[in-house]
This record gives sequence, C-alpha cells and structure tokens, in this order.
Amino acid sequence: MKKRVAVLGSTGSIGTQTLQVIDSHNDLFEVELLTAFNNSKLLIEQAIQYEPNVVVIGNPDHYSTVRDALENTDIKVYAGKDAINQVVEMDTIDTVVIGIIGIDAIEPIIRSLQNNKKIALANKESIVVAGSIIKEEAVKSSGQIIPIDSEHSAIFQCLMGEVGNTISKIVLTASGGPFLDVNISDIRSVGPEDALKHPNWNMGDKISVDSATLMNKGLEAIEAHWLFNIPADKIEVLIHPQSIIHSLVYFVDGSIKTQLSYPDMRIPIQFALSYPNRIKSSLPELDLLKKSELKFMLPDVKKFRNLALAFKALESGGNMPCILNAANDIAVRAFMDKRISLLDIPEIVEKSMQNITLIKKPSLQDYFQTDMIAREKTIEIINNLR
Ligand code: MG
Repeated sequence: MKKRVAVLGSTGSIGTQTLQVIDSHNDLFEVELLTAFNNSKLLIEQAIQYEPNVVVIGNPDHYSTVRDALENTDIKVYAGKDAINQVVEMDTIDTVVIGIIGIDAIEPIIRSLQNNKKIALANKESIVVAGSIIKEEAVKSSGQIIPIDSEHSAIFQCLMGEVGNTISKIVLTASGGPFLDVNISDIRSVGPEDALKHPNWNMGDKISVDSATLMNKGLEAIEAHWLFNIPADKIEVLIHPQSIIHSLVYFVDGSIKTQLSYPDMRIPIQFALSYPNRIKSSLPELDLLKKSELKFMLPDVKKFRNLALAFKALESGGNMPCILNAANDIAVRAFMDKRISLLDIPEIVEKSMQNITLIKKPSLQDYFQTDMIAREKTIEIINNLR
C-alpha cells in the first residue's frame, strides 16, 4: 500500500522539494491533498500532474480560477484557510507535510494530531509560538511529529534508540549566513538582496533573512526545546560554515552523535516521509574527501543579538516566544521593504518584548491574541523609529 501524503504549502520551497522526493519514490508515496495560498498557477499544474483527491487554494479570490482549470478532472477543489484546517482530517491521509509558513500552521497541526496522522513538520513558527499546546496534543495522539528542519531531523535521528539515556546537551549548528565575515559596521548598509544570498541552503525569503540575522537559529533553539524536551541551558549554538554536520547530541558518557549530509532539504524531507524506514536517495552521497575541512566557531553574539533575544524569550516562557516571533516577522518585512536596516531588527524585537504583557500559561486564544497585539505594537515601534 502506498502512503498517502498531504502537502500543505505545495507551491513553496518545502512543498516543491517534497514533490521531488515523491517523484523519485512513486512506488511508495502518492499525493492525496495539495494546498497553496496564492500560487494558483503552480497549484493547478501540480494538481494535473499528481492527481490528488483534493486541492485547496487558501486565498478565496483564486477559487474560480482553480475550479475552472480542474473542471474536467475528479479533483475536489476548496478554498479558504478553514478548508485547509478541515481537509487534513480526511481519513485517506497518512502523512501531513506542513510546508506552510507562519502561525497558520498551528490549526492544521493540532487537527492532524487529533486525527492521529504522522506529521512531517517544516514549519517552526507554530512550535515556537504554541509549543505548549502542540506538545499536549502530541502526547494524547497516536500520531507523531517528525521534524523536517535539518537540525531537528539530525537530532531526531541521533535520539533514535536512546530512550531513557541522559543527554548532557544538544548543539545546533548554523552556517552563519551570508554576513559571517562581514564587519558589524558594514552590516548596517546591507540590503535585502544581500541577505537573500544564502551560501548553502536553498530556502524561502523570510527564512533566508532569519538565517542572516541568526534569528533562525534562535527560533530553532525554541523549537528544539519543545520537540525534544530540552531545557534552554542545555541548548547551544555553533557556527559551522560548511553545513555538513546538521547538529549534535552530547550524551553523559562523553559520546557525541551527529548526522552528516550535503545541505539539501530533500534529505530530511525524505527521512520524514519514509520514517521509521530508510529508503534509497536519488541524491549524491556525501564525499568526505571533498569536504575534509569542517570548521566550528562560536557565534558572534554582539553582531547577532537575535540569538540572545530568542534564548531570553525561551527562558521567560509563556507567550514571550510568540511576541519574539511576531515582532521579528514584522521587522523582517520592514527590512525587505528597505524601511529599516538589518541591525534594527533586534532593537525592534527587544522593544516589543519589553512592551507586551507576559502571560505565563497562555491558551491557544491567548497566543493568537498576543500575535496580533505584538504585530500592531511592532508596526508602531517601526513607525516611531524615524
Ligand atoms: Mg534549520
């Protein structure tokens, strides 16, 4: 029996790479559901190619375009965010790939868990914001979350077969992004086009900027805390510019486990789809002789203050990571619009964190409310900058 896969965000970076993995294993996987928010053109092409049972276009303005294009097929077409939340419950779905960005992923994740689906999770904002609630649902569910984020996939793989063994710490590796060797005085003048040139990974715009500012690693630390039940003081970050070692787990006996591969998201995507099995990859195997120089250094926390802010948010707990995430999202957009400099991002995020009430034990509604308030507050902070 082929595994039936739902791809949420099928037209984005994770979604298109997921479909490439499915292409190379069409004896094992078939597409049951595709969803996209705005890119109706590519969604239609994908629907014709993969013949899923259902497609959902998030933005209702594009509904008639998609419906008309698929009129002569058996594919059911729905529109709107609520439809995305509902269709993940279909009992014909085995695995839900969460390739959408932002907190819109929270609801589909919770519904998938409530319906005991396996989740292949690429979205980090949902766990950063609502980790406490998603974790509760995951404990009750017979479904499981398999991370796609390369660092968390590495840690997940290192922890296989280690139930009950004590971890002394985990180390998240970071490429350092495009500004690793750029002086702080020169970073002030970099623009979005510079920030989007990630040296190793092929990713979406927002995450590329987050990699450049190290906020991505901060969000990943919070994500690791929830996924692996690791306290903040046992999570560290090392810069590793080659992006070959995808994170490390240190055990109390002095052993360190890691996972190595070329930096290609299709490797963790395939692992999440095939888990608990490993299947042959069509990608080239890592040649250690060609990558014999693996370097490690501490992050420059003065240059990249976002990392410290993320750890502070994790230690504060409650809705603070939610504030951090929302403020960063707005600040990154302002940077992309050339309204602020890259170095303004941590200043703005910090101000938002200081100006919004901490809720120690937030409900899901509190998280959504906090997200809204933090976005409004951050826009106000940016408008008052100049
Ligand atoms: Mg990552």
